Amino acid sequence: MSALYHCPGCGANLPATRPIWRCACGSHLSLAPGSGLARSEIAGGEASLWRYRHALALQGPPRVSLGEGWTPLVERSWEGVPVHFKLESQMPTGSFKDRGTAVMLSHLIEVGVGPIHEDSSGNAGSSIATYAAAAGLPCRIYVPATAPRGKIVQIAATGAEVCVIPGTRQAVTEAALAAIGESFYASHNWQPFFIEGTKTLAYELWEQLGFRVPDNILVPTGYGSNILGLERGFDEIEGRGEITTRPRLFAVQAANCAAFAAAWAAGAEGYVQFTPGATAADGIATVKPVRTVEVLRALRRSGGGVVAVPESDIAPALKALGHLGLFVEPTAATAGAALSLLLHDGTISAAETTIVVLTGHGLKATDKIAELLGV
Ligand SMILES: [Zn+2]
Repeated sequence: MSALYHCPGCGANLPATRPIWRCACGSHLSLAPGSGLARSEIAGGEASLWRYRHALALQGPPRVSLGEGWTPLVERSWEGVPVHFKLESQMPTGSFKDRGTAVMLSHLIEVGVGPIHEDSSGNAGSSIATYAAAAGLPCRIYVPATAPRGKIVQIAATGAEVCVIPGTRQAVTEAALAAIGESFYASHNWQPFFIEGTKTLAYELWEQLGFRVPDNILVPTGYGSNILGLERGFDEIEGRGEITTRPRLFAVQAANCAAFAAAWAAGAEGYVQFTPGATAADGIATVKPVRTVEVLRALRRSGGGVVAVPESDIAPALKALGHLGLFVEPTAATAGAALSLLLHDGTISAAETTIVVLTGHGLKATDKIAELLGV
């Protein structure tokens, strides 16, 4: 049986039987709730996210995989407090995006996708380009001229066509939208199977903690696919009666460009206008998230919130993580800075189980890191 899309805009329900990225009404789509899996259904022999394949809304086996998922969860001391760091930076392309990409492309290939394109500030672009190469799909990636050089090089190395677009991030998206007549817009921000992939983060944390639920999860957040994936995953695990408590989810943003923080501060249910500025955390500098309402709702429902990290906190956090053996890009370092803020104001206590998700590897942004650390 094929999965069902639901449109929050017009209420339509449609079967996921062909490659689409949004509803005919223009709204984004969501996947109908999944049935999840019980711990006895985990494919324990798979050292990848495919150990949870029985919970995924796919028809058959993975169509493309590079061994993504089942990333290390390591305990370190942060300001004297024990914390679990989830090393999503150790994915095949060096960022958490591979969870979403492997599942999204597996679905799209199942339903007959041809050439694809995508717009990205870097990490999603390198992930989509890499998996397209692995699957033999022609691929074009639109990137902003300001994207870190390492990410652009990573995309080019896959053989994908790289289109560097000058101007704002919005101009990059518009270039990708203008190409929808030529190839399929495999947008990780729009296509809901991407979140079907990121939900495996919830399963993995649950299993790696010995089938326990953490108290807090901090995630660097641009569009919110990890927040929505975590919510979906824990919904499913709870639905199967495996857990009775839920983690608080904290979306971490760079204060200089913080769409969710602006809405949160205003007490709004949806998007509010704000003035975006420059930040070293390029991976989360999102001006207009697609699923603002859903992400804010997930954060409120979890009892968590949004943390806006001052720009001056990013370099010290990056340095402190590096000294723990955790070399990450500035975007990921915001999560360490946010943890300090939440520990200082008493939101998080030392006795709680706290997860800090490190979303991207430092090797992706060595130029920027060199500037921040003065090396
Ligand atoms: Zn619709």
